[in-house]
Amino acid sequence: MTDCLVNMYSDTVTKPTPAMLQAMVTAEVGDDMNAQDPTVNRLEAMVTELLGKEAAVYACSGTQSNQMGVRCHTGPGDELLIEERGHIANFEGGAPAQLGGVSCRTIRGENGLLDLHHLEGRVRAHNQHLCETKLLCVENTTNAGGGRFWPLEQMHRVCDWAHAAGLKTHLDGARLFNAAVASGHSVKDICSGIDTVSICFSKGLGCPLGSILVGDAESIFKARRVRKLMGGAMRQAGVVAATAVYALENHVERLADDHANARAFASAVAEVDGVTIDLDAVQTNLVFFEIDPKIGDACQLSAALKARGILIGAMGPHVLRACTHLDVDRDGVLQAVQGIRDCIAAGIGQFPESKFGPFARA
Ligand SMILES: *Cc1c(COP(=O)(O)O)cnc(C)c1O
Repeated sequence: MTDCLVNMYSDTVTKPTPAMLQAMVTAEVGDDMNAQDPTVNRLEAMVTELLGKEAAVYACSGTQSNQMGVRCHTGPGDELLIEERGHIANFEGGAPAQLGGVSCRTIRGENGLLDLHHLEGRVRAHNQHLCETKLLCVENTTNAGGGRFWPLEQMHRVCDWAHAAGLKTHLDGARLFNAAVASGHSVKDICSGIDTVSICFSKGLGCPLGSILVGDAESIFKARRVRKLMGGAMRQAGVVAATAVYALENHVERLADDHANARAFASAVAEVDGVTIDLDAVQTNLVFFEIDPKIGDACQLSAALKARGILIGAMGPHVLRACTHLDVDRDGVLQAVQGIRDCIAAGIGQFPESKFGPFARA
């Protein structure tokens, strides 16, 4: 294979910038398991303040902080409600069931979003035959739902509904800052109806790893116990938390560049013969597009692109997802579109057909 020229698999692929590495080198550190790492404490205080909540706890990954959130609000035998494409239900190794004894009741919404007409009637009655519905999980921006952000009123409406129904609310905000920058609403307003919020630093914010769970003091106290149980309580984690402090100060507003690059990619790929795309659906840094089955399948195109040094993953039999981030610029995204055009023109029939489900990578 050629060297990788453009990596649009995910926004997780970014490498720490020199300034970020410098922040790591100079970070003040301590024992975070005992809440004595000044850099982690500073990060937790910053995010608590930004979101207008009471407390926060640093975590290793978004999967971990999501599961900490799930476990704050549920116990074995309980049920959570989630849109059927949600990350918590699909891409976390079955963790609600495996780690928490919790079942996911998945609900078909629109573009990964739920509204009252999807949710009404989904809270189970108190009855010995039934599990107890305890939690509503939402995702903003939606990943498999197409990178959409929630209209603010809709987010508030479903949270009010959940609370009135006696449920807690958890937001998988892996890309919360993308939602804030694209919608123009503050993270505080977006999260005002949410009990616990998980945010990834390793996506658009460009950190090598790390996530955080934010919420009320009691939930975060519980979450610390769960973090310990899951093997995620770290010691001198400040060396990594320093990248998150740096990213919050320097990498939030620039997400608008990623969104503009995603739009440029989308408009250019729309012009390629055999490609279908809903341009109105492109709101943030994720671009989903479909190829005509006559050309081949999504895994074949992904493999053909890979051979040209362009990485874009398959997300369905004929659907691919391209993602913009800190390490891909305007030239890069346009080069990727040229690659798609060239691959389709050359034919992709020699590449193996898809043997895997969604999220298969060439
Ligand atoms: C990336 C992501 C996560 C976290 O996944 P990790 O594999 O733990 O990094 C959670 N939710 C969504 C929507 C994501 O895209």
